[in-house]
Amino acid sequence: MADIIQLLPDHVANQIAAGEVVQRPASVVKELLENAIDAGAKVIKLIVKDAGKTLIQVIDDGKGMSETDARLSFERHATSKIRTAEDLFSLHTKGFRGEALASIAAIAHVELRTKQEQEELGTLIEIEGSSIKNQELTVTPKGTSIAVKHLFFNIPARRNFLKSNTVELRHIIDEFHRVALAHPDIAFVKFHNGSENFNLPVSNYRQRIVNIFGGKTNEKLVPVEEATEVLKISGFVGKPEFAKRTKNEQFFFVNNRFIKSPYLNHAINAAYEGLVKEGSHPSYFLNLTVDPKTIDINIHPTKTEIKFDDEHTLYAIIRSSVKHSLGQFNITPVLDFDRDNNLDTPYNYKNKGISTPRVDVDRSFNPFQEERSAPKSGGFSNGYSKPPAVPWESLYVGLESKGTKTEHDFSELQFESNPENVALFSEDSSLNTSQTTYQLHNKYIISTIKSGMMILDQHRAHQRVLYEGFLKHLTVKEAVSQQLLFPLVIEFSSTEMDLLLRLKEDLEHTGFVFSSFEDHKINITGVPVNVPESEVSIILEQLISDVEQEVPDSNFSATDLLAKSMSKSLAIKTGQSLSKVEQEHLVNSLFACKEPSVSPTNKVTFITMSVDDFDKKFV
Ligand code: ADP
Ligand code: MG
Repeated sequence: MADIIQLLPDHVANQIAAGEVVQRPASVVKELLENAIDAGAKVIKLIVKDAGKTLIQVIDDGKGMSETDARLSFERHATSKIRTAEDLFSLHTKGFRGEALASIAAIAHVELRTKQEQEELGTLIEIEGSSIKNQELTVTPKGTSIAVKHLFFNIPARRNFLKSNTVELRHIIDEFHRVALAHPDIAFVKFHNGSENFNLPVSNYRQRIVNIFGGKTNEKLVPVEEATEVLKISGFVGKPEFAKRTKNEQFFFVNNRFIKSPYLNHAINAAYEGLVKEGSHPSYFLNLTVDPKTIDINIHPTKTEIKFDDEHTLYAIIRSSVKHSLGQFNITPVLDFDRDNNLDTPYNYKNKGISTPRVDVDRSFNPFQEERSAPKSGGFSNGYSKPPAVPWESLYVGLESKGTKTEHDFSELQFESNPENVALFSEDSSLNTSQTTYQLHNKYIISTIKSGMMILDQHRAHQRVLYEGFLKHLTVKEAVSQQLLFPLVIEFSSTEMDLLLRLKEDLEHTGFVFSSFEDHKINITGVPVNVPESEVSIILEQLISDVEQEVPDSNFSATDLLAKSMSKSLAIKTGQSLSKVEQEHLVNSLFACKEPSVSPTNKVTFITMSVDDFDKKFV
């Protein structure tokens, strides 16, 4: 038979890739602003016409490009920002993929003018749908101007997918706010349809916030400053009485990058508990600084997600610092300020007195109990033995549920054991008298296996366990829900409501029961059995954020996305300490899964090291 495989022509490949980078005009704004910042600009101008559908132009006074670089910048994977893969771990620029300009040029008319300081003349390049229409020397000031016209001119489907000007402009402004807030040391000016809507001079952080959100903002800001070993926080939160019905004044920046994190957002809400009305949202503008090695920035250009090594601790520190600030500024009644005791270790409060450590003695502790239940490893050879009933609530410490007792009864879920995995463990219990587990840095579970040892990532492993559980419920459509004593009312914006409505049926299959779904409000009367009431808002917000970040063209499977999103929200976090029983139960549950080796997002859940590997190291 004749060969049938062909290489896609560049312009087609570029158009496909562009779909990933450019979803809407706001994505272009983000990429161009970030390039200007990377170029060391001190003043950046953004000009927009018709919500970016007709024109998006960014003019900077940065370092500009040479003639050759100007031409090269439109090639895919052309970047001046990294050279080797190692550079990825010490990123100090916004961009590094070298894809933005190539993608934008594939789906729009682009006019680039750029000049380096020492040059007499600059370069003008005009490109339409990846093909160069004109290149010449030109008179232009130092820096770069990139004008993007007629976005999606050659992909009518994408153009039709764009929302109204109001919606698209909202996205652009959001993007502009995020960039401008992260860089008060750069001046920004923004025009829409010929009129100037923002003029932000170089200023301190407080002034930048006030310049963006208006003069009244000043009186409502309360500073938050905290430095611990793992996390530095600086910025402002809003006084509770100014909490708003919308969430558009909520900003987290991690190492100068805007991120979305429903989990950390929950930490703030927890700090405000009892201070703001149900359905209103406190403002916050917080810069978090962490060691870049402890985060995993999702390198997908349009995503704003980030993974922390130790989310659980960050949650506690953020909640406590915000609470502390609110308390210090006499916003909360002083007595209400209950600090979380287990937080004191990473803290250096100036006036912290010395106190005698308290020793808690567990009088019911029976040292022989463990031994009696020890010969468990043998259980694996008989297939999956039902693990002991585990108090799964304890996996959610730190996120106290508001008085409702919930059952996290995953031990009830019956999985079919996968025989291949069982073989990992010892067949002969005499060789391996007890399957010992050990938790390392509240992150990994180490367990002995037949050939040596296995190291399991607790967060990813638990995600896999929960994910398969949810998928099962979603497909068989017979999830069990627990009735809430008091209905939970959660407010959402109209876009969020639209989105949740699309997922309503699937949500019901996981065990949610809604009594009404209207007027920006969802009334929840039942939740899946394994979901603590206090986590419901995190789950729904995480879900909204996950759906928003899905590339619109990709295969959207609501069921899978829901299962992934919920397992992400509910999985045991890194940083969470687990009892022996919980550790063992996690190991057992993971190996009862159909696909234990990867997390729902295809990340490795465990690795093994054989005794041979150790022997080699000990020569
Ligand atoms: P990335 O930012 O990931 O490197 P881009 O496609 O956004 O990729 O840009 C490609 C290259 O073009 C950059 O690495 C940079 O060298 C150059 N460039 C883009 N925009 C500017 C600008 N405003 N000023 C100077 N150089 C720029
Ligand atoms: Mg870039």
